[in-house]
Amino acid sequence: MRKPFVAGNWKMHGSRDANARLVQGLRTAMTAPLASHCDVAVCPPFVYLADVAVQLQGTPVALGAQDTCAEPGPGARTGEVSASMLLDVGCRYVLVGHSERRQFHGEDDGLVARKLSAALAVGLTPILCVGESLQERDAGLTHHVIARQVDAVLDAAGVAAVGRSVLAYEPVWAIGTGRTASPEQAQEVHGFIRGRIAARDGNIAGSVRLLYGGSVKASNARELFAMPDVDGGLVGGASLNAEEFVAIVAAAARK
Ligand code: PEP
Repeated sequence: MRKPFVAGNWKMHGSRDANARLVQGLRTAMTAPLASHCDVAVCPPFVYLADVAVQLQGTPVALGAQDTCAEPGPGARTGEVSASMLLDVGCRYVLVGHSERRQFHGEDDGLVARKLSAALAVGLTPILCVGESLQERDAGLTHHVIARQVDAVLDAAGVAAVGRSVLAYEPVWAIGTGRTASPEQAQEVHGFIRGRIAARDGNIAGSVRLLYGGSVKASNARELFAMPDVDGGLVGGASLNAEEFVAIVAAAARK
């Protein structure tokens, strides 16, 4: 019913040479049957988007960005990149509210909601990231934090906007740490998120894709994706290795 989706977040990694090798690896390993069972995207840093857009031509892999300005532009926003610019260079997706943006750049729920709306306004599909820190989990606040992050976007942008997005549950304590949420932990929060959306619109809740992110690897992808509310993954470190990334896509495609 919901087609699996795997997105790679390259974060602040890569170079023109390394990216070309990585995309060549994807081109070789990403077979047509795989791609027909799973949507796939990669999200390079801004400066490489146009290069990678050309390199991805003829492959089933879509392009995404890691962030967008919340303002439509053009305008006086030095250092920012607008959603329409991302569309212009070939992006189809954009991450909004990644925990590293929230943590290191002070992005709050209101700003994240505006970024999501800016992306949708130009026809990009936002990948809205939510997740709790270790302290929040240990304090029993996981549902409270996730509800706040999801509701902020539901309130500001509306449930239809969330329905045109993809959500990614990324527990902060699992990102880049090698410590993955157990399939049961992931399912528990995914079920909670779906319930939160269902409180506004049951049909949208049933069709929106919920990805899990946080140290997803080829070795743990299958058990995570076997969970009923886990529709794929947002993959950081493992997306920098073509073989590993395609093995994760294969696990999602078997869902
Ligand atoms: C991420 O960057 O969103 C992520 C989940 O990273 P990693 O897979 O390396 O934990």
